[in-house]
Amino acid sequence: MSAQHDTDSRQMLGRLRAVMAEDAAGQARLDQIVRLIADEMQTEVCSIYLFRDEDTLELCATQGLNPDAVHETRMKLGEGLVGRVARNGKIINTDDAPSAKGFRYMPETGEEAFSTFAGVPIQRLGEMLGVLVVQSKEARLYSEEEVYALEVVAMVLAEMTELGVFVGEGAAMSARHQQAVLFRGTTGQEGAAQGHVWLHEPRVVVTNPIAEDPQSELERLRTAVDDLRVSVDRMLSNAATGDAEQLEVLEAYRMFANSKGWLRRMEEDIGRGLSAEAAVEKEQSTARARMGQVTDAYLRGRLHDLDDLSNRLLRILTGQGQETGAEMPADPILVARNIGPGELLDYGRRLKGIVLEEGAVGSHAAIVARALAIPLVIHAERITTEALNGDHILVDGDNAVVHLRPDDTVVTAFRDKMAMQAQAQERYASIRDKPAETLCGRRIALQMNAGLMADLPSLESSGADAVGLFRTELQFLVRNHMPKRAELSELYARVMDAAKGKRVVFRTLDIGSDKVLPYMKPTDEPNPALGWRAVRVGLDKPGVMRMQLQALIRAAAGRPLTVMFPFVAQREEYAAACAEMDKAIARERILGHPLPGTVELGAMLETPSLAFAPDKFFEEVGFLSIGGNDLKQFFFAADRENELVRRRYDTLNVSFLTFLERIVNRCEKTGTPLSFCGEDAGRPVEAACLAAIGLSTLSMRPASIGPVKSILRRINLDELRGIITDARDRGDQSVRPAVMDYLRGKL
Ligand code: PEP
Ligand code: MG
Repeated sequence: MSAQHDTDSRQMLGRLRAVMAEDAAGQARLDQIVRLIADEMQTEVCSIYLFRDEDTLELCATQGLNPDAVHETRMKLGEGLVGRVARNGKIINTDDAPSAKGFRYMPETGEEAFSTFAGVPIQRLGEMLGVLVVQSKEARLYSEEEVYALEVVAMVLAEMTELGVFVGEGAAMSARHQQAVLFRGTTGQEGAAQGHVWLHEPRVVVTNPIAEDPQSELERLRTAVDDLRVSVDRMLSNAATGDAEQLEVLEAYRMFANSKGWLRRMEEDIGRGLSAEAAVEKEQSTARARMGQVTDAYLRGRLHDLDDLSNRLLRILTGQGQETGAEMPADPILVARNIGPGELLDYGRRLKGIVLEEGAVGSHAAIVARALAIPLVIHAERITTEALNGDHILVDGDNAVVHLRPDDTVVTAFRDKMAMQAQAQERYASIRDKPAETLCGRRIALQMNAGLMADLPSLESSGADAVGLFRTELQFLVRNHMPKRAELSELYARVMDAAKGKRVVFRTLDIGSDKVLPYMKPTDEPNPALGWRAVRVGLDKPGVMRMQLQALIRAAAGRPLTVMFPFVAQREEYAAACAEMDKAIARERILGHPLPGTVELGAMLETPSLAFAPDKFFEEVGFLSIGGNDLKQFFFAADRENELVRRRYDTLNVSFLTFLERIVNRCEKTGTPLSFCGEDAGRPVEAACLAAIGLSTLSMRPASIGPVKSILRRINLDELRGIITDARDRGDQSVRPAVMDYLRGKL
């Protein structure tokens, strides 16, 4: 870039700052700006087009085109050269506009006289706000430097928070952030919540986009980048060495933080008149725009890293931390691109709901949200761009819908839904201390699934008989390092204390498949759900399993201990796991530690193979718990994590119920205690059918205990069993229609 243009863009920004400091009203200021740019660039036309609504651009100010066209000329996204710049986020610079692809003649503007055209997007952090255009009669191509200067000006324009006011009535930006928006995502956790937006990563507000003194801005940038490098190095030296993925991200951070190109581009932006923060944000915008176009997952990941790093740098420069001075609302609904399980736990039950742009049903954050029973919607695309701190928001986890800034009719309908849910909760509370006894006199034990300390208060409030499944892997998943034996033993002891003598079934570490420990070397498996997971890992690499068993034994210290091994597929695996327990007890005895009062061992039945194990297995196993989530996915060969197939087969499909019944019969024959702890146990209709085919212990999320108990207390299991048998005899594919008919008459 020549020194000449360097001075020009600085001078232009200097004049722009003066305009912005004046007390002019919105439109008048915009008019001043286009005049100023046309004058500085010695070009006939300068115009600003802003979004009027999602896909319409409006001419909002012009120097050189017919002034009557202002607020009259509109074009659709993608239409004409301006529309193309806005759609693609890419600059168009041509000396023969009428022949350029997409040119549209707009007679009201009189623009056919201008053959030279340059349009640059006005965007802020990947959000397209409008287009800045210069045009000239003289057939000359705007130089790279001139276009660059325009980009810098567009960046400053984008920073003007009052930009929306310029459009007058129906102002694009401000109006957009007032409109009701509906997002459709995927359910992470059911339930409805109403509250106000709390952005997990609030946007850093850049208030001074133009440099007053480029030299001091350069120094500020360099000092901030130095601080950033130190902090990245510190993060690297604190990182767990075994955690390849975390190391990879941090190495990428370090690479970017030390990238000469990144720093040079930001220095050049400052040279052209931007403040240090604005220069960082300009680079960040470019990276975000690229992110929208890149499909390669690895590259997208790296661009995300660069984005995160830019945020860090902005925080260092502005002094704005997570705390921006905004106060968390009393009813916060967390809105984030994504969030780690540890961060979610820090917020805890304060959150009324969670909405994420990314995430996965089986992600750790989703597991934690479920454990905390907080409604969660994932895949709500663009919500972090649309939502502002404090916006009114409704989260409908049941239907995977989010209403941002809802209008009154939606609010009323939503409140009705919440009121009905609250009434139902009251009904459930009133039967909390009553047994889950059916009209035919059968008692069903209703237990709860847990995995975090935070779950334990629900044992009392839900009226659960016991913890039928304690998923110990959650404690491993929410940390970024392998927990120590002493930590675990203390935690397990606290779980037993909180259970106050009620039985807690601790399931040993169930990792692999979708549950990948952040600090364990990832294995590259073609089919992780069918791969090296759960007890298979425990037996092949027994170090962690031994440590965990020891921690459990020490936690029990004289109290009864119940342990269950996950994903046992054949008798030998169960026998080998039990042998590990025997060895652990023997070792503890030698070390002089107090032993558990009693030890009860069991297995999860999650693979069809175990249902066909020899009688001997059923005789020797202490108890069995059907892991319906996994068992169903293997029975139907339908991945539980795959949205395309996970709802395809009904749990009440006759084949599956017949299979479950067969397991019940085998257990009855051998006197093996049997329970069911998959998600279906917590769905009232499914739970009723499971009880009808003979399952007398069901373990579920605490929030499901009330609804399941309520239905069980109103039905006769003999009648329901008759309905199921009839449906099967008729050859129905699923017993659901017949069962629903029966239940409708009862409820
Ligand atoms: C199951 O598979 O049903 C189960 C309870 O285990 P998880 O959902 O933790 O795999
Ligand atoms: Mg399972």
